[in-house]
Amino acid sequence: MQNTHVSAEPWPLGVTARYLTVGGATVDLTKGDRYYPTEDGIGETRNHTSVSCAGCPAAEEFSHWVERIGSYGGRWDEHHPEVADEQARSWAQEHAEKCRAMPRPEVAR
Ligand SMILES: [Zn+2]
Repeated sequence: MQNTHVSAEPWPLGVTARYLTVGGATVDLTKGDRYYPTEDGIGETRNHTSVSCAGCPAAEEFSHWVERIGSYGGRWDEHHPEVADEQARSWAQEHAEKCRAMPRPEVAR
């Protein structure tokens, strides 16, 4: 008899939140960053919150950076990780409620 108690297993490194889908898979939130080249050649590293389903290929990425446009047309970016986390959590919640894909069992060795 296999142990199906999902929450007893430790979460993979970097997972900050986990949702259980109706199909028994998990939707995981992780943080990441990626380097983007810029015109001046220096480049920048942008952080994001990723969310992906272990049962199906569904995945989404929410940038921590929000573009603001000032009243005189100036643009700048603000760092709002909590906004990205909130968006990622609602994506995960919504996906977990409808995804019926089952997690692929470990291959027997
Ligand atoms: Zn899914």
